[in-house]
Amino acid sequence: MQIEINQGLIVLAEGDITEEETDAIVNAANSRLRGGAGVDGAIHRAGGPSIMAECRRIGGCLTGQAVITTGGELKAKHVIHTVGPVYRGGTRGEADLLRSAYLSSLKLATAGGLKSIAFPAISTGVYGYPLAEAARIALATAIDYLRDHTDLEVVRFVLFDRRTYDAFAGELKKFI
Ligand code: ADP
Repeated sequence: MQIEINQGLIVLAEGDITEEETDAIVNAANSRLRGGAGVDGAIHRAGGPSIMAECRRIGGCLTGQAVITTGGELKAKHVIHTVGPVYRGGTRGEADLLRSAYLSSLKLATAGGLKSIAFPAISTGVYGYPLAEAARIALATAIDYLRDHTDLEVVRFVLFDRRTYDAFAGELKKFI
């Protein structure tokens, strides 16, 4: 499923983000940038040690912010590591922090002159963010960004399973 915003595209796909050929893929990292389970582990495994070497030099990343490294052996030239919030009931600023994680990643992409970016469903795995609400925030942030930034051409959401894809598709339909 995809929709056009300005000259840009928002695309939903089911799959493994480590296979993406976008200029950057986004990692749902932890604040120490030390690698973990889920998509973080998959990206470091597929991309090789040069990504972690750069993460160590950078040292860490606050929740809601993002940093950029090489893509190592990945097809994507860069990995943007962002830290989404751990969901603790929704009253601890989680929505703002999740929006900020997406927005910081998008800003890093355009600052680096990148044309395409692929996101996983940040915070919806181990960090426990309710899926439909996380999808709504992800999509609203990307749509708003493309309305204001015509230099970014493609924002892909690469969703690991059917349930996550369906949640994103259900929310995206509400924006059409
Ligand atoms: P978080 O700690 O931010 O919740 P997780 O990695 O636990 O991050 O989960 C975030 C999302 O990434 C989940 O929907 C999970 O299914 C998904 N995911 C795990 N591996 C991959 C992968 N290789 N490609 C895309 N998404 C993935």
